[in-house]
Amino acid sequence: MPDKYKFTKEQHFAVWEAYEGQCYWCGRPLELKESTVDHVIAEKYEGTPDLARIKTLYGLDDSFQINDYCNWVLAHMHCNFRKGDDVFGVSPALIACLHDVAKRGARARERCRTILAGNRKDKVLGRVGVAIDTGVLKQEDILEKFGLKLVRETEIELPPGFCLHVPGYWKIMRLEGEIATVSNGERFGRTPVGPEPDYSWLCGNCKEFGPWNGAMCLTCGCRSCPD
Ligand SMILES: [Zn+2]
Ligand SMILES: [Zn+2]
Repeated sequence: MPDKYKFTKEQHFAVWEAYEGQCYWCGRPLELKESTVDHVIAEKYEGTPDLARIKTLYGLDDSFQINDYCNWVLAHMHCNFRKGDDVFGVSPALIACLHDVAKRGARARERCRTILAGNRKDKVLGRVGVAIDTGVLKQEDILEKFGLKLVRETEIELPPGFCLHVPGYWKIMRLEGEIATVSNGERFGRTPVGPEPDYSWLCGNCKEFGPWNGAMCLTCGCRSCPD
């Protein structure tokens, strides 16, 4: 009889992780995609008067549920089906088994909770991103809502006589002596900004002073051969 309960992907994954990818019945390793979630106390007892009797018999907590982490184990499909609806006798082994399952189950439950919390956060952030992309929301709206201010890159002011010798879309991020680190929002490079820049900085191809990222002129993309 197939299981009635439909496990979510997250529950299945959390159980797989809590059992370290090992079948609870045969102990052999199994991959997530070939694994199934099985019940220690058979699912057929769910919602039956027998369940109360079983709980008393095994000394189970009143909060015990058939479809809960404290009764779920990781199993091969064939190990799962082989066990089927076996009725267990009360034995120390079974009690110990249920204890172990409850312990691992607590770990799986917590893991599933964090997975879902992460997913929810990602989903919300995704939606906010779409809203900004489509113009429904402005970045400023969100910042304003939470009393935040957009921190813009502070433009670095050059000393008198200094200037950029590269196209204006390059913004100065840092200045060390006469060499500025500049960015166009995607890439970083270095360029001289002093009053008399050394011509060795000139790009032979586009005749700009770079900016250079290593040996590459970021304005035209050509590579200089050091000679
Ligand atoms: Zn197995
Ligand atoms: Zn160039």
